[in-house]
Amino acid sequence: MTGVFSLLPEGRPGLLDPLLSGAVLPGGSEDLSRYLAAGGYTPLPDPGRLLDRIAAAGLRGRGGAGFPAAVKLAAVRDTPGTPVVVANGEEGEPGSVKDRWLLRHRPHTVLDGIRLAAAMTGAARACVYLADAPAERAVRRALAERPAEPRVDVVRTEHTYVAGEESAVVRRIDGGPALPTAKPPRPFESGVGGAPTLVANVETLARIALVHACPEAADAVAGSHLVTLAGTGRAEPGKDAAGATALAEVPAGTHLKVLADLCGHGGADSVLMGGLFGGLHGAGWTDLPLDHDRLSAAGGALGCGALYFLHPEDCPVAVATEAAAYLAAQSARQCGVCVSGTGALATALTAVARGEAADDTTGKLHRWSRELPGRGACGLLDAAARIVATLLAHFPDRVAAHRGSACPACANPAPEDGHRFTVPVP
Ligand code: SF4
Repeated sequence: MTGVFSLLPEGRPGLLDPLLSGAVLPGGSEDLSRYLAAGGYTPLPDPGRLLDRIAAAGLRGRGGAGFPAAVKLAAVRDTPGTPVVVANGEEGEPGSVKDRWLLRHRPHTVLDGIRLAAAMTGAARACVYLADAPAERAVRRALAERPAEPRVDVVRTEHTYVAGEESAVVRRIDGGPALPTAKPPRPFESGVGGAPTLVANVETLARIALVHACPEAADAVAGSHLVTLAGTGRAEPGKDAAGATALAEVPAGTHLKVLADLCGHGGADSVLMGGLFGGLHGAGWTDLPLDHDRLSAAGGALGCGALYFLHPEDCPVAVATEAAAYLAAQSARQCGVCVSGTGALATALTAVARGEAADDTTGKLHRWSRELPGRGACGLLDAAARIVATLLAHFPDRVAAHRGSACPACANPAPEDGHRFTVPVP
């Protein structure tokens, strides 16, 4: 099963709602005339009032950190200089497809969000930053038929785990490599060409467009999420579930078990959340709601909203080892602690998976998972450390069971390319 689903109550505006966003032919892109008819590109509002509305609705950024969107917009507006707005469509998490889907199918909604963000910050220039060729074609088509202001450039980057990190975005747009830089300064202080820069995820911008188009439903728009659902395991009886994936739009607070059921992974017994950023979670995960604060309190992270479900026959040690190896391979190799830290985590986990770990390996993994977070220039090292920390916290018996011998899943490891986590764009 692969598809696009909405769990929003009837009448609640959403990004998967074809009536609100304009008709989309199968495999096609948003049609301008229908988008206009549906309330898109309406005259610019009072920028302060729209910012207040976004703040009151509690819209949080959808790139991963969940930072309040209104605070970020105001910080860019209030920094001296002429701001730049960047729509960040490069989703580095291999298990997330929402941003590419939006750019491919709802380019006008994203461009409308750019227009409104530019009005709120005072920007005269904007960029769409992406790596996906079909998304680029859709955005260029939409740019050719949309209102001319503000000026919007398209900047193509490579698809890597770190290319969408906000300082990497700025560096790439300025002609450098798509690699993170040390902070401060943050992009809102000194970004593209030294200007105060809003780097906003494309879903965040699309939700700003919806808040403007449907002010009466601003809370509902801000309280809905696009999530990418995937997993492995055997199909449930009568269902073609193995490897099933879905893009879904759901209300905040939806329980993760409901999302597993939605995409045919109702038999899952654990989950990898936030793409690779939120770690592995076992007992009790079914009671967790889709909520930044609740998932953080549980030691996880919502991140970009990608969930990967594991079934009883899957081995969490194998999944963690594969994820750690992928992250080590994706390290931008700029920070010494990241190069050595991700390498050490991946090597130690591989030893555990093969049943070749020394007596002190688990102790070292515990210590590294506590000491490494926050020490790299971006979140990649944190992701690797959290995967280890959550594996040890939620699956101590499964880790201990690998002492002396590998389980069948670990005896046949997958390649380090992250393919297990990669989801096709529906
Ligand atoms: S933490 Fe790792 S991936 Fe991030 S910038 Fe440093 S070396 Fe690169």
